[in-house]
Amino acid sequence: MAPIGLLGGTFDPVHLGHMRIALEVMEALAFQEVRFIPAASPPHRSDPALDAHARVRLLRAAIADQPGFTLDLRELERPGPSYMVDTLIDLRGEVGTEQPLCLILGMDAFSLLPSWHRWEALAELTHVVVASRPGGAQRPEGAWWRGSVFMNPEQLQATPAGGVYFHRVTALEISATRLRQLINQGQSPRYLVPDAVWRMIDEEHWYQFHG
Ligand code: ATP
Repeated sequence: MAPIGLLGGTFDPVHLGHMRIALEVMEALAFQEVRFIPAASPPHRSDPALDAHARVRLLRAAIADQPGFTLDLRELERPGPSYMVDTLIDLRGEVGTEQPLCLILGMDAFSLLPSWHRWEALAELTHVVVASRPGGAQRPEGAWWRGSVFMNPEQLQATPAGGVYFHRVTALEISATRLRQLINQGQSPRYLVPDAVWRMIDEEHWYQFHG
C-alpha cells in the first residue's frame, strides 16, 4: 500500500528546504501524499514568531500547486503542546492500522527524537524517513531506534510502522531561523522560499522587527 508521508514542523516560515524534502521523498518512495502538519505550540522551543493563522496562510500558498501536498491542521485544533505521538494516535484512528505512515524528519530532528514525549511509542505508530540535512551530523545516529533499519524503500510499503529509512536529499542549507534573521535585518528571503511565500511575507511585513 502506498505510504502517507507526514512532515511536521513549526514552518516559521515554510521554506524551500521543506518543499524539496517533501517532493524528493514523495517521488523516491512512491507516497500517495505528503501531509504538512504545522505545530501549534512546539514543545521544544520558544513560541513561533508568527501566529498559527499566518503560518497556515504561508503553508497554503506554498503547497497550492503541488499535487499530493496537503495540509493537516489537527495540531492547531488541539489545545496544549503539539506532541507528535498524540497526532499519530489520532491519525491512526482515521486511516486504520494497515496504512503505512512515514514521518519525515531532517537528520537534526531525528537526532533529537529520544527527547520527544513518549518517543518509544512512535515505532508502533509510524515508520520514520530521515532526510539528510546540511550543517549537522551526516552519519545516521539511530542506535536507540527500537524498530528495524530498512535498506530499501519497498519495505516501507510492506508494513504499516516500525522501520527507519535514511534518504539522501539535495542539500539545501536553508533554515527558518536564518530566514527570520535575514528579514529582520532588512534583507530579502527571495529564492529561499516559494515565490508566493516571499510575496506574502513582503506584503504583510512579517518578520520585520527592525522598524
Ligand atoms: P527553525 O530554524 O525555526 O528551527 P527549520 O528550518 O528547522 O526551523 P522546522 O519547521 O523546524 O524548520 O522543520 C520541520 C522539519 O523539516 C524538521 O524535521 C527539519 O529537520 C526538516 N528540515 C527543515 N529544513 C530542512 C532542510 N533545509 N533540509 C532538510 N530537512 C529540513
